[in-house]
Amino acid sequence: MQYDVIVIGSGPGGYVGAIRCAQLGLKTAVIEKYSTFGGTCLNVGCIPSKALLDTSEHYHNAAHNFETHGIELSNLKIDVKKMIDRKNDVIAQNTAGITFLFKKNKIDSYEGVGSFIDKNTIKVTKNDGSTEELKAKNVIIATGSKPTALPFLPIDKKRIITSTEALNLQEVPKHLIVIGGGVIGLELGSVYARLGAKVSVVEFAKSIIGTMDGGLGKELQRVLKKNLGMEFFLGHKVTGATTEGEKVTVTAEDAKGQTVELEGDYCIVSVGRTAYTEGLGLESIGIKPEERGNKIPVNEHLETSVEGVYAIGDVVKGAMLAHKAEDEGIYVAERIVGQKPHIDYNLIPGVVYTWPEVASVGKTEEQLKEAGVKYKSGSFSFKASGRAKASGDTDGFVKVLANSETDEVLGVHIIGPRAADVIAEAVVAMEYRASAEDIGRICHAHPTYTETLKEAALAATANRAIHA
Ligand code: FAD
Repeated sequence: MQYDVIVIGSGPGGYVGAIRCAQLGLKTAVIEKYSTFGGTCLNVGCIPSKALLDTSEHYHNAAHNFETHGIELSNLKIDVKKMIDRKNDVIAQNTAGITFLFKKNKIDSYEGVGSFIDKNTIKVTKNDGSTEELKAKNVIIATGSKPTALPFLPIDKKRIITSTEALNLQEVPKHLIVIGGGVIGLELGSVYARLGAKVSVVEFAKSIIGTMDGGLGKELQRVLKKNLGMEFFLGHKVTGATTEGEKVTVTAEDAKGQTVELEGDYCIVSVGRTAYTEGLGLESIGIKPEERGNKIPVNEHLETSVEGVYAIGDVVKGAMLAHKAEDEGIYVAERIVGQKPHIDYNLIPGVVYTWPEVASVGKTEEQLKEAGVKYKSGSFSFKASGRAKASGDTDGFVKVLANSETDEVLGVHIIGPRAADVIAEAVVAMEYRASAEDIGRICHAHPTYTETLKEAALAATANRAIHA
């Protein structure tokens, strides 16, 4: 078959890119090695983790917060099987949605592993071993990533597990040890802590969610400890893990060489993700992934060193996020037809779906200091928000960073209720290069969590927050 575009991989980068290609009139095919579309995000990432986060949040609220609202419950129980079945149903609805969209957009799909024979010829190796060759003028590699393993720590997928197995546990762990205090570890740790597990987080860095603005990690750690009893071993390097029956023992040491030994029944290794290029046959077209992280090198237009071969999403540099992958899919489709799309990598929001949620866009204080940019900062606490008081979600704050001279908003960092949604306002404002005063003068509905952003913007504008 001859196509204008073949997309290898059907995650958010691949499927969105394919749909945009089809919208633009390109004859498009997608090759996916698994039987369902949607990649990591829909099958073992964003969507299932949020389904479990929602279930566990309901349970935790029922167990700990309903009483203050005057709601009494007895015999509260969590049915783990039902929780996992519901999560699987949510996945099925989403992946079926992509099958529908492919049909609607007349996108051909092939189940199997795609590999390069040459830059215009892709071999599809199906599960039964049979093969088929497809031709295309352009190829988009969207093969995503897989969990990074620690060389000295074998994952048995039963007791020492990755995020994928953690989304399918059949029981609530008694003591869950999470290696890595990043987004995925904290989200999955929260799920099981809310359901009653003791959760210990071991993190090599001195703070959790270390790539985000420093204030956010500190506040999140405080709240997770207070609300969920999570314990943290920061500045600790994991040195090994062993299993014996149902027992997992993890050893770690701090900078002074003092060791801790933690005994649990499950251990999630969530130390990052590595670009996935296995089986692609990149060597046939002379592409060599980078030594560190295995990423496929691309230019500023997401084209590899081979003309007409593009790569997007987790398999290339930049944030490993679904919405970044999606935007890159659209970007490449539009480039192929000669349009001039644009992605502002500075304005890709990052979110952690703990409770309170954490969300960020733009520069952190640490980055502004390092770049020598003169900035001012305004913060506002959710404690002073009427909406947060009404819902009982008063932990957290909003911080607005703005240029000292021009007042342009340079970064917004939120920890608090529905931060994942509130950040969208900051992204829009920053896309239009708003000043802090612009946000402070926009009418915000009352009572909403977004008023806290307005107040923080006012705080950054000559300390004018009203309710501070
Ligand atoms: P992927 O989604 O990884 O898809 C790649 C696809 O390519 C896969 O289906 C794979 O089977 C297929 N493939 C690979 N090689 C071949 C081949 N040779 N032939 C055919 N098919 C192939 N991001 C967010 O933005 N928000 C979140 O809330 C979020 N939560 C997450 C939670 C967890 C637990 C995890 C693990 C990740 C989460 N992420 C989240 C990250 C997000 O899932 C990824 O950034 C996103 O899926 C990357 O999209 P992609 O299209 O680049 O690749």
